Amino acid sequence: MKKLSFKLGIVFFLIIFGLETFMFFFLHNALVNSRIEEELSSLQARGNSHRDILAKHFDVNTISHVALMESEAITDVVITDNFGTILGSSFKNNQIQSYLKKPHSRINADGQIVEKDWKKKPYIITISPIGTTNETIGYVYMFQKTASIQSLIERLNQHFSLAGLIALLLTFIVIIILTKALTKPLVKMKEATYQISKGKFSVTLPKTGNDELGELAKSIKLLAQDLNYLKKERNDFLASISHELRTPLTYIKGYSDIVMTRNLTSKDQEKYLQIIVEEANRLSSLIEDLFALAKIDKNTFVIQKQKVLLNDLLKKMELKLSPAFKEKNMSLVVHCPERTYLYADPSRLEQIIINLLDNSIKYSSIGSETLITVTPRKKTTDIIIKDNGKGIPEKDLPNIFNRFYRVEKSRKRSLGGTGLGLAIVQELVYAQGGSINVHSKLNNGTTFTLTFHTNGAEK
Ligand code: ADP
Repeated sequence: MKKLSFKLGIVFFLIIFGLETFMFFFLHNALVNSRIEEELSSLQARGNSHRDILAKHFDVNTISHVALMESEAITDVVITDNFGTILGSSFKNNQIQSYLKKPHSRINADGQIVEKDWKKKPYIITISPIGTTNETIGYVYMFQKTASIQSLIERLNQHFSLAGLIALLLTFIVIIILTKALTKPLVKMKEATYQISKGKFSVTLPKTGNDELGELAKSIKLLAQDLNYLKKERNDFLASISHELRTPLTYIKGYSDIVMTRNLTSKDQEKYLQIIVEEANRLSSLIEDLFALAKIDKNTFVIQKQKVLLNDLLKKMELKLSPAFKEKNMSLVVHCPERTYLYADPSRLEQIIINLLDNSIKYSSIGSETLITVTPRKKTTDIIIKDNGKGIPEKDLPNIFNRFYRVEKSRKRSLGGTGLGLAIVQELVYAQGGSINVHSKLNNGTTFTLTFHTNGAEK
């Protein structure tokens, strides 16, 4: 069986069962041994007390008196002389002779155990010598039937078996409850992930507190939310792409039809062809932007960060872009301290700045000025691109980095933006570990602040 609860249960059970068995065995042994020890020492103490009396009066009277006393007790006594001849006994018959074994070594004055095998032998036996240390005149043998000890141990065993059985049952129940409690949230989470894989993102998960399981549940929920968001974003994105592609294609198709089917003056023909070329350009720049984004998304594009001499890079860009600004009667001014370095990919940095300057041109009017200012700090450097164009309304500011977001939805084709420029800029900045911020005031101008690390070690 593959079930986790079953596996866990078996492991728990084997461990607890092993521990319980060991403890029961240990306790049982200790109890039995101490019980036997008690029986033996009380038997010996009894023998010693008879011995003490007999040591004082070793005569027929006292011997028969002791024997008579023991015949009423659960123990028995046999008194012998120094050679092993029985002088008195509490047993009814004399078959006891075979049990009277004297130890080979010298017998301790305080007596000694002769037989303690309570499992196999009919008696446990002790011996106490009568007399002084130098001269022994006889022996007191004490007997106790092992049957009574065996039945005592038998009863103890029964209690132990019952306790063992109850413990086993309780262990079983506890393990079932415990494994169920442990695996239930896991099973629920497994089901939830299965639902997520099937596209059902609104999953409910058990509350398991702040432990690892709780963390896992939270992560799964977060994953479901993220996947839901990504799915929605992908759908929106696809819808936007198809819309964006359809518009120029409609123009191209419409104007091509007109040019082909109608008898137009060469002036009109040129006008329509111009529109077709514009739309075709728009389409190709849209596809180019989409490719750029797709590359960043897939993380397949390489960022080669290096120490960039910023004033050098900006000077070259100024030279390259100034004609575009001049063409629209605008100006580009660069303020960058000499020997300003930062850690970035120069070609990506150029792409970022071109996109931002391109917007400055698009969204400013004749005579406006765009200013690039560089502010080096201790660990980072800011590149600030400020224009005095038309600005961005406050409500649109949080969205301008979104893909296909345009402030003027129904913008004239001459402005021709794809709504992907700033999305690309943001991705490129993030990919280099930098950050981008925007401030804008309607009819006043827009300022983008790019921040990059000054040196590689601190990235
Ligand atoms: P687009 O291709 O439309 O320019 P962008 O992603 O580059 O798309 O910009 C998103 C929107 O942000 C634009 O539609 C424009 O309205 C606004 N925007 C971006 N830069 C500027 C700017 N420098 N001045 C005014 N508006 C701007």
